[in-house]
Amino acid sequence: MSVILDLLFPVKCLNCGSNSQYLCPKCLSFQKTNLPKYVNKGSKEGSLSLFRYEYLIKRAIFELKYRFVTDIVDELAIIFADHIKLSFPHLLQYWQNNHFVVIPIPLYYTRQNWRGFNQSILLGQKIAQKLNLNFCDHTIFRHRHTYTQAKIKDINSRSKNLYQAFSVIFPLPRNIILFDDVASSFSTLNSAHNSLNCVAPNRCWYLTLAG
Ligand SMILES: [Zn+2]
Repeated sequence: MSVILDLLFPVKCLNCGSNSQYLCPKCLSFQKTNLPKYVNKGSKEGSLSLFRYEYLIKRAIFELKYRFVTDIVDELAIIFADHIKLSFPHLLQYWQNNHFVVIPIPLYYTRQNWRGFNQSILLGQKIAQKLNLNFCDHTIFRHRHTYTQAKIKDINSRSKNLYQAFSVIFPLPRNIILFDDVASSFSTLNSAHNSLNCVAPNRCWYLTLAG
């Protein structure tokens, strides 16, 4: 079936149109990346938005979220995991040795029903698998509707929009990597982390595909 689909709708690079990959190595080499940011010097917590939210990765995320091209997840997960293994092996080792658990940011059920999937679960699960990290998608629950963060420009309004939007389901892992597809102001991740920290202190990293 997949062979027939490949013949009918061949996969093409989102930038140059060359065959066989959505993100061809040549175009991907122009994609800008970010470094990890630690909470403070010597801290064991921080955030990493691996790719800049622009160019090829931005297009790939758009295809996934708004054109529902879910088969792009495999390519994104491989690119993401390979980059972490190559560029930040010590950070990865720290996560592995301390049993950090990748927890995707949940969507409210109406949005998930509209899209048919949660892109952070699809990506987070594949990425955790490739990085040899545990994954758990039933630790936090989004219990009320919030407006799409991208549509709210003001940071204060974004935080207010997400205030107490999440609740926690036990048991809670001690070391957590909160995963989302995109972080712009970090208000979604902060809100989820506040909910987790209210019930049990934990060590937390924010990890996103882009930001
Ligand atoms: Zn290309």
